[in-house]
Amino acid sequence: MLGVRPSLETLARTRWDLIVIGGGVTGAGVLLEAARRAKNVLLLEQRDFAWGASSRSSKMVHGGLRYVAAGHFRLTRDALRERERMARELPDLVIRQPYAFVVRRGEFPGRWPMKAALWLYDFLAGIRDHRWLGRERLLERIPGLSPRGLRGAMIYTDALTDDARLVLRILHEATAEGGRLANYVRVEAVGRQGEQFSLSARDEIGGVNATLTALSVVNAAGAAAGDVSGEPTKIRPLRGSHLLIRRDRLPVDDCVTTLHPRDKRPVFIFPWLGMTCVGTTDLDHRAPLSEEPRCTTEEADYLFEMIRGQFPQAAITPGDVVSSMAGVRPVIASGKGLNPSQESREHSVWRHEGMVCVAGGKLTTFRLIALDALRAADLIDERQLLAARATAEPLFRSPLKFPNRLGHPTAALPEGEALIETLAWALDNEMVGRLDDLLLRRVRLGNTRPAGARDLLPQIRALCQSRLGWDDARWAGEAARYLEIVDHSYSPPSAGSAP
Ligand SMILES: Cc1cc2nc3c(=O)[nH]c(=O)nc-3n(C[C@H](O)[C@H](O)[C@H](O)COP(=O)(O)OP(=O)(O)OC[C@H]3O[C@@H](n4cnc5c(N)ncnc54)[C@H](O)[C@@H]3O)c2cc1C
Repeated sequence: MLGVRPSLETLARTRWDLIVIGGGVTGAGVLLEAARRAKNVLLLEQRDFAWGASSRSSKMVHGGLRYVAAGHFRLTRDALRERERMARELPDLVIRQPYAFVVRRGEFPGRWPMKAALWLYDFLAGIRDHRWLGRERLLERIPGLSPRGLRGAMIYTDALTDDARLVLRILHEATAEGGRLANYVRVEAVGRQGEQFSLSARDEIGGVNATLTALSVVNAAGAAAGDVSGEPTKIRPLRGSHLLIRRDRLPVDDCVTTLHPRDKRPVFIFPWLGMTCVGTTDLDHRAPLSEEPRCTTEEADYLFEMIRGQFPQAAITPGDVVSSMAGVRPVIASGKGLNPSQESREHSVWRHEGMVCVAGGKLTTFRLIALDALRAADLIDERQLLAARATAEPLFRSPLKFPNRLGHPTAALPEGEALIETLAWALDNEMVGRLDDLLLRRVRLGNTRPAGARDLLPQIRALCQSRLGWDDARWAGEAARYLEIVDHSYSPPSAGSAP
């Protein structure tokens, strides 16, 4: 269990073997792998765990078909092995999911190039699970799909998750191994004195500052990694947005993949938490990284254009959108002025003034990224790295199960008594610091209920006050802040929203 937030003063009393900056999937993975090696390790997150890209992704645990197409076979094989590991070890959180890659006349890739790519994809994963579905059977399987130019679809298997829950699951495992962590602690500067690092940190809730010391530092601050290390950034922040649509208006059971008519990028329509999720866009993100990103009206229009082309009969309107979600990918820039979608999604690990920096990559490969970071920090040697990459030992060893199917990617959130029980469990066990932690990352009512679940706030108030001891003034501040975040960044995009 994550327990309660430790005070900064307490954390400052220890000299840590390793401090990890950033509580997304990358930082969480580093914490787990280091804690398992009996390191005295602490993770600091400036806001909430999974606040960044790691709660706003497309939720796909996959090898990446585009890597096969690009000839990156080793990368694809590694990611597919990790996908298989997670599906095996976390069957309630990372589920196998059918994908349908729709093929229409005149579009590339067509049936045979897709078949060849999927043959290789399955071969690298060690499974055989793809087949061609002709036009008529596809229209039965996906009702409402436009028949215009439709040839059929390649059906194959990848996996799906709830990304924020995946991060929390890794953090639960890491704390069970002795790792320590704190949210709402911002690292403001990192300095070096001889063999040790000193980190100036600020408790963003308590308002106090302290200096922490560590023998090694891993900077896993995502798109903000350059701000933390203070170097000219290698990172190209790319925003991707999704719309969450009422399932009864656009029901799909497969992850439907189609090419956007405007730029031929693959876009997904998939089931998620009892809703239908549509995304994503891929644009340079120019707003300050300290602000909550949001989906603009231009991005919503882009996604609507695709939905209307693929599902014309559904006549989806902005009124069917329950919420939106925008995330910033920490992509390593090639510096070649490529289109955003042409930039590599591979991770990179480098050292800057002794600090190990790690960025890029995917949810799927978090374990391998973490091992590379530990190697760069000299916390494991080359032999240990190779052994750990290849190990069949389970990564998730604690018997923890989330209550009431929490985290199951396609199941709707619980309701009634079960919902109250689930919220109470998260409040008691998952270091909730602010109301948005509870409603946007622990139990995603803010994403799945209209208007950010305003209707449930009276019940949630009673729970927060009794479980967290918030007085009336604290509750009023939390509720106002939460509703502002929802209006700004998670509501259906309205006219005039700017990037
Ligand atoms: C739209 C979109 C779709 C995606 N789809 C997929 C997908 O389907 N499958 C997949 O595998 N991957 C996907 N990805 C990629 C994946 O989500 C990211 O690569 C991954 O989440 C990055 O994790 P991270 O921990 O490196 O960064 P983040 O999750 O961004 O975490 C970095 C953390 O560092 C914290 N931080 C920053 N500065 C400081 C500081 N000074 N002090 C303390 N903390 C700090 C931030 O608050 C943040 O929480 C997608 C990404 C996006 C944005």
